[in-house]
Amino acid sequence: MYPIIDTHTHCYFPAIEKDQAAIFRKCEEAGVKIQVQIGCDEISSLAALSLAQKFKGHYATLGLHPCDVKNVGIKNEEYHRYKGFEAYDLKATNFEQLFALFTDIYEKNKDHIVGFGETGFDLFHENSEEILALQKTAFRQHLNLCETYQKPIIIHTREAREVTLNFLEKEMPNRKNIRGVIHCFSEDAGFAEIVTKQYGFFLGIGGVLTYNKTEAIREAVKKTPIEYLVTETDSPFLVPRKAKNKKQRINYPGLLPEVIELIADIKNIDPDTCGHILFENGKRLFNLA
Ligand SMILES: [Zn+2]
Repeated sequence: MYPIIDTHTHCYFPAIEKDQAAIFRKCEEAGVKIQVQIGCDEISSLAALSLAQKFKGHYATLGLHPCDVKNVGIKNEEYHRYKGFEAYDLKATNFEQLFALFTDIYEKNKDHIVGFGETGFDLFHENSEEILALQKTAFRQHLNLCETYQKPIIIHTREAREVTLNFLEKEMPNRKNIRGVIHCFSEDAGFAEIVTKQYGFFLGIGGVLTYNKTEAIREAVKKTPIEYLVTETDSPFLVPRKAKNKKQRINYPGLLPEVIELIADIKNIDPDTCGHILFENGKRLFNLA
């Protein structure tokens, strides 16, 4: 059996948290060795960190999701449902305070924090000049942290192909040695070629690869050298197709074998070899021993 790394998961969400022991046992049975819990704002970054502090093989990132750039300092009842944070008082009310806080949290938890993000562009939920400007500012702040601490950047891009490519083209030449991943890769082979060749970024491949209408993603996976691919779930979202057909509603890292087997099939290599390569790629992304 091959070891598995989930390079992008949110297991602190209540949907998983309430069933945590059973779900983590299933992950272990499936061969999951490493889970990277991704932060999306102040509280979720702390929730991600708390999992990393508690469980062996879990790591965290600190970040501000592009859909949350307007919500800094605003109490969201949903987020305050994360276990242990029900009564948490937000400390940051603006970007400056939030990224100063991330710096401070990182400095105190270097063993547990392996990257910054998710950041990036999302014009699916809102497409305005205002949000775009905020997303750009936040993205730059994440890049500053990545550069200072030599950690990878976790990039989210949705309905923002040109915006993302233009931003990277402008920003990346001024930045030194930043590793990164295009998380939940859902663009095409052309986009994949640019981000892998120009920036050496990885592509985060998950449940979306298994869906009926995602031929372009399978084509991108086929054309991209396997050393640029990493596995991710984006749990609790994006259940792979076969699991979904069996009425599975919550995604978790233990469902990754379906994705790994499809990658193996597309690449025409055996699943065990494929699994081992993808595991090593994930460790390289986050510089894990
Ligand atoms: Zn995510």
